Amino acid sequence: MKKILVSGGAGFIGSHLCTRLVEEGQYVICLDNLFTGSEENIAHLKKEPNFEFVRHDLEFPFEMDAVDEIYNLACPASPIHYQYDAIKTIKTSVLGAINMLGLAKKTGAKILQASTSEIYGDPVVHPQVESYWGNVNPIGIRSCYDEGKRCAETLFMDYHRQNGIRIKIIRIFNTYGPRMLPNDGRVVSNFVVQALKNQDITIYGTGNQTRSFQYVDDLIEGMIRVMNTGDDFIGPVNLGNPHEFSILELARKVIELTGSKSKLVFKPLPHDDPRQRQPDITLAKEKLNWQPTIELDEGLLHIIDYFKSYHY
Ligand code: NAD
Ligand code: UDP
Repeated sequence: MKKILVSGGAGFIGSHLCTRLVEEGQYVICLDNLFTGSEENIAHLKKEPNFEFVRHDLEFPFEMDAVDEIYNLACPASPIHYQYDAIKTIKTSVLGAINMLGLAKKTGAKILQASTSEIYGDPVVHPQVESYWGNVNPIGIRSCYDEGKRCAETLFMDYHRQNGIRIKIIRIFNTYGPRMLPNDGRVVSNFVVQALKNQDITIYGTGNQTRSFQYVDDLIEGMIRVMNTGDDFIGPVNLGNPHEFSILELARKVIELTGSKSKLVFKPLPHDDPRQRQPDITLAKEKLNWQPTIELDEGLLHIIDYFKSYHY
């Protein structure tokens, strides 16, 4: 049994990761300040003897004598949440990375950073390969998240080079699934909730901007495969579904699958909203023998069922 720390473990992705690791029989310590996460997300795990929840803010160091693996996920991920307190978001990414890397240094743990496709900003290279350095505005309203995550990647690389820490960096592309918050603000949850309530579907801008949507189970499988690679593989590696959709296409799919009477309404495009995004997953295929298996139609049906049964 491995002792595994998951920061941000009470959030959307973190709670799925904790569930999978607990099911595998690992001892899981979930660290979270419950900013966007909740105890409800991990309620099913609390009765398990190999699961422990610790309320802790990652801005501050966390002490432990021994831990085998650390997954560093703590950070709000939805634009409305990470812009709510932008300074706190940067602190979480940067100080959180330093604190978790410090713990890895002390314990000898292997550590994985949940980085993001936002590293590529508004990309001029399409699809995005890991060798692309990105096109990020350092002073915009998304910068607290993008630059915080970029700095965290730098810290991971420097702790690796300077201190020999065993690191892994994954770049996660837009991921959706059960346990997203209904008021999360991200596009899939917004559209599904609006469709189920027959409310207007809010398209920001023209809706011709694109994203590639990954179902959470595919991501979790990829994350665990990355953690289990040999120490010579550190990434960064893209984890995402390469099937790209415009936001208008997504809206139409959600309306069709829910049988909703919702109409499309057009709202202003937020500043620095990336125009296109699609992962090149050649590296993940090669190194992890991994690729997504759940396509958008199937994944949307799961999240629609989830919102129907839990919220509406
Ligand atoms: P989420 O908001 O549901 O989860 C983030 C978790 O981190 C929450 O439980 C929150 O309470 C916790 N947290 C935030 N600040 C904290 C702090 N200072 N101390 C301790 N805990 C803190 O978001 P998510 O979608 O599950 O994202 C998880 C990770 O994956 C994030 O690091 C995010 O940047 C990354 N990611 C997600 C996506 C996606 O599409 N969902 C894409 C790219 C990267
Ligand atoms: N978006 C939209 N309507 C919404 C929410 C989001 O049109 O109600 C758009 C948003 O402007 C962006 C895309 O959907 O172009 C994805 O937004 P999200 O916040 O989910 O992710 P990110 O922009 O961080 O990839």
